[in-house]
Amino acid sequence: MGPLRVAVVGAGWAGLSAAARLCQAGHSVTLFEAARTLGGRARGVQWKQDSGRALALDNGQHILLGAYRETLALMALCGLEESDVLLRQPVRLEAADGFALVAWRLPAPWHLLMALLCARRLGLGARWDMLRLILGARSNGWRIPSDLPVGQWLKELGQCREITEKVWAPLCVAALNTPVELASAQVFLNVLRDSLGADRRASDLLLPKASLDALLPGPCGTFITRHGGQVRLAARVTQLLVGATEITLETAQGAPEVFAAAVLAVPAHQVPTLIGAPEAKGLGPLVAQCAELRWQPITTVYLDFGPALRLKAPMLALSESIELGHFGQWVFDKGQLGGPAGLLAVVISAQGPHQDLAQDALARAVAEQLRLQLGVSQTASATRVISEKRATFACLPGLSRPEQRTAAARLVLAGDHTESPYPATLETAIASGRTAADLVTKALAVL
Ligand SMILES: Cc1cc2nc3c(=O)[nH]c(=O)nc-3n(C[C@H](O)[C@H](O)[C@H](O)COP(=O)(O)OP(=O)(O)OC[C@H]3O[C@@H](n4cnc5c(N)ncnc54)[C@H](O)[C@@H]3O)c2cc1C
Repeated sequence: MGPLRVAVVGAGWAGLSAAARLCQAGHSVTLFEAARTLGGRARGVQWKQDSGRALALDNGQHILLGAYRETLALMALCGLEESDVLLRQPVRLEAADGFALVAWRLPAPWHLLMALLCARRLGLGARWDMLRLILGARSNGWRIPSDLPVGQWLKELGQCREITEKVWAPLCVAALNTPVELASAQVFLNVLRDSLGADRRASDLLLPKASLDALLPGPCGTFITRHGGQVRLAARVTQLLVGATEITLETAQGAPEVFAAAVLAVPAHQVPTLIGAPEAKGLGPLVAQCAELRWQPITTVYLDFGPALRLKAPMLALSESIELGHFGQWVFDKGQLGGPAGLLAVVISAQGPHQDLAQDALARAVAEQLRLQLGVSQTASATRVISEKRATFACLPGLSRPEQRTAAARLVLAGDHTESPYPATLETAIASGRTAADLVTKALAVL
């Protein structure tokens, strides 16, 4: 018997990971992607300015952590050298007002203890609260008895306002993409355990210095085709029918195709529309679970200030104030990250009143915030706002996420929304892809 045909639906980072690992396991893989490009929610986009200047951007600024082991392993498998595409630096929270908390290049936990000792513009009470929270969480095995919103949990722990505003809230919103008053304290703790609480290299920040395309989707697509897989772009799957001995895929164009198994790696809200007759195959509960997830947006505002502008670091925290109309949370100097000099990317994670503004009004508000907080006095020659309304699922307390294994052994789910101790991240997506490939391989061995 030759290699078995396996379909992967969706070429985001989860689908790419699944397809690469399935090729590695010797299956005959076809990867279907509805869009004209690979990468899904972490993809490259083109920006043609009115002046004619054309820039390659990402649909949103992404950062990785040293703890992203599956992501780094897949990049290595695809032939990428970490130092060519990522800038590794110790975790650093650095704001325009002089506040700085920078991990030291020392073994854990000294990297953090020294960071606290040497932090700038952080009161003694705030330092003590941070230490208290980390030591307490560690001694409780990073578990809380019953999940609750991060904001409530911090209050119950008596964390002061300063440490909440300068450290916990920005970290929570950046990692979980959910406001502190809504976000899951247990998932936040899981992130802290595997980043700040783990060894120093795990807590490192990895800032992309190549476009997202070059960071994984491009090289991974090449890996898949080199290993006998097919990558079909602009190939939207319209229905997936689970049979007793096969899975049939219908696409917008062409005749239905039959596969031995399939990995469904589309965002959760699209799962219910794709699975045909779910109740008959026992897939009803899974479909309902996917439909129940709620979403949070991420907005990235790009401002092109021209080559004279260089910030004091590639990534800085901004001071968010809804009352003052300062919506930006982080700013990235793309010129220091392999991009055009003077191009800034300002990130606004999670829901908020910025969503009510028209794009040009939001870009003006962000430019004013940069002027007031960082002294950026130049006028941007062009701006572009990219809002991903469904950037990630809302990471709420006690959330029940769909399992990857489904009631039909031939059908496996992948994606950042599938069951995991972590929030929706590139790492969750890639790890889910590898698990999906393993599950398919095991299922096909016994079916
Ligand atoms: C602006 C932004 C910033 C982010 N920042 C970070 C960050 O800093 N760090 C981090 O770790 N994570 C970050 N994330 C989260 C990260 O991007 C996602 O967790 C990850 O990309 C999800 O990958 P996925 O493969 O699970 O899903 P997706 O990327 O959504 O992939 C699903 C794919 O399926 C395709 N598809 C859908 N329907 C069909 C169909 N019917 N037929 C064929 N194909 C179909 C879609 O076109 C898409 O390509 C960010 C996300 C956004 C949007």
